[in-house]
Amino acid sequence: MSPVRLDIVTAERLVYSEEVDIIVAPGVMGQLGILPHHTPLMTTLEPGEMRIRKGGEEFSLAISGGFLEVRPDRVIVLADAAERDEEIDLARAEEAKRRAQETLRQRIPAADTAQAEAALRRSLARLKVAERRRRRRG
Ligand code: ATP
Repeated sequence: MSPVRLDIVTAERLVYSEEVDIIVAPGVMGQLGILPHHTPLMTTLEPGEMRIRKGGEEFSLAISGGFLEVRPDRVIVLADAAERDEEIDLARAEEAKRRAQETLRQRIPAADTAQAEAALRRSLARLKVAERRRRRRG
């Protein structure tokens, strides 16, 4: 099957732009698989792992939520933040996780709880992607 162009952008930068074979994105309803010639759609992404298969190789990016649009000629991901697996700073993600968990242990206003939960989910997505890279590389 011919590949599909995937562009992942944030407000800050172009994170990834390649022709790929399969995309599995963290959709609100669960994992969303996209092959070339997928029907056009627009959907929201949750913080999580985006897996990409390209030429028999698979790798991942951490996505901190955003939007995914399937167009006839390409797939566009507009992410709040996104990091390719090799870009993830593991110590920073672990520290962010620790901080979020610490905050959630305290009695705090609901808005702060929601913020800490979101931070926790971002950190867990980054840790998952970093861990998968480590396992892939043996
Ligand atoms: P932190 O508390 O460590 O800043 P965060 O989840 O609040 O984490 P974001 O606001 O999602 O961070 O991201 C801010 C910027 O920092 C983005 O450009 C994002 O790609 C980058 N970033 C955040 N955490 C990491 C990480 N562990 N490794 C690499 N880049 C990261």
